[in-house]
Amino acid sequence: MKGFIFDIKRYAIHDGPGIRTTVFFKGCNLRCRWCHNPESQPAGETLMWQTLKVGEREHAGQRVVGYSLTVDELVARVTRDRIFYEESGGGVTFSGGEPLLQAEFLAECLARCREQHLHTCIDTAGAVRTNRLDEICRLADLFLYDLKSLNPRKFHAHVGEGLEIVKSNLEHVARVAKEVIIRVPVIPGVNMERGDTREIIDFLAGIPAIRRVQLLPYHRNGADKYTRLGKTYEMGDTPGLKQENVTGIKTWFQEAGYEVL
Ligand code: SF4
Repeated sequence: MKGFIFDIKRYAIHDGPGIRTTVFFKGCNLRCRWCHNPESQPAGETLMWQTLKVGEREHAGQRVVGYSLTVDELVARVTRDRIFYEESGGGVTFSGGEPLLQAEFLAECLARCREQHLHTCIDTAGAVRTNRLDEICRLADLFLYDLKSLNPRKFHAHVGEGLEIVKSNLEHVARVAKEVIIRVPVIPGVNMERGDTREIIDFLAGIPAIRRVQLLPYHRNGADKYTRLGKTYEMGDTPGLKQENVTGIKTWFQEAGYEVL
């Protein structure tokens, strides 16, 4: 079986515990305005401009983003760094794009990683209906589950369609999966008001299994990719946030009893 991905990053330290290899699936059904991997969004191959160096000369050229690989090829790649996973408590993270859009391939990769005793993590935005969700929950060790906004108007304006699926999938994942951490990308103009956090806390109150939240302050990494893809970066000149810009939100979650990572 083959999957379609656009990158494999070794020695990743922000995509779950320990040192990890992150596999970036190609294709996403959402269009977050701040997405720092816009080349991941189309499901097929994408052309992106970049500076190419031939000898001493540089010139602009286009490269193809996205390639297919088999489960065997993927497992061979990720097992190379087993020693780092074992020493750091790390493993393999399946990210994107949206990994649940290739649920069959994902489930097969998870099963094979399990045979290899590798810790696995799914980084998902959750807006996908799939009849493989149960299987994926049972095979994966950890879910990093994005909640961007639970306000229907804001979700529609800044993220896309599928908020009700995000919510119902999270309720299901929290019942079946071993461990879930909520990840909230903190985005100026989208979800920094107290009411935005309150909506998330009120929803999570109905899912007592979830106790941990990670805040991801907005950054501008990837903004240049929009030009290279012939697109407009809709966040404009919005400056990136520092950790101190999200301390208020951190406090609101802590006051509600959550551990904020
Ligand atoms: S869910 Fe992730 S990959 Fe998809 S558009 Fe949003 S930020 Fe980008």
